[in-house]
Amino acid sequence: MDYGFKVAAHAHGDEGMYRAVANGVKTIEHGTLIEERTMELMKAKGAYLIATISAGKFVAKQAKIPGSYPAIIVPKAIEIGAQIKNTFKKAYEFGVPLAFGTDAGVYPHGDNAKEFIYMNEVGMPISEALHLATFVNADLLDEADQLGQLKTGYLADIIATDENPEDEISTLTNVSFVMKNGTVYKN
Ligand SMILES: [Zn+2]
Repeated sequence: MDYGFKVAAHAHGDEGMYRAVANGVKTIEHGTLIEERTMELMKAKGAYLIATISAGKFVAKQAKIPGSYPAIIVPKAIEIGAQIKNTFKKAYEFGVPLAFGTDAGVYPHGDNAKEFIYMNEVGMPISEALHLATFVNADLLDEADQLGQLKTGYLADIIATDENPEDEISTLTNVSFVMKNGTVYKN
């Protein structure tokens, strides 16, 4: 932060994330055990929660397969992982600024779009979830002048789906068209 960078903190416990936000951290990843005081502080300071429901679900499931994680991690993964979806719901209803992220790498890449489905399952309209993943995330990354919108002068990073996600959300897990910086990679 002293160098002008935005700082992200992956945190499950409330005390840690409260101190982080109080000291200027811009995004809290996971936020599992977030309490009201921290949600208030995040609203006041314009800090964002990136809940990563996908990661929580994956580790909770994976931890039940013997040998997947060191023994000391297993109970935490099971208990914490399963709660993240509720955390997202709580923060959404409280009005905490939210952004989109999945923590992919903690689980295999390629399932990232499921995060939209999980966000939608706890009440966020798909149009709002898509807005977070594009417009809001671009702004958080200080790239709002070239990413996050289909607009003249912006990078042509575009995906398309066969159906309207507002009618059939699962279409986001099977994109039929991918363009990156003007080059078509999938059609
Ligand atoms: Zn993490």
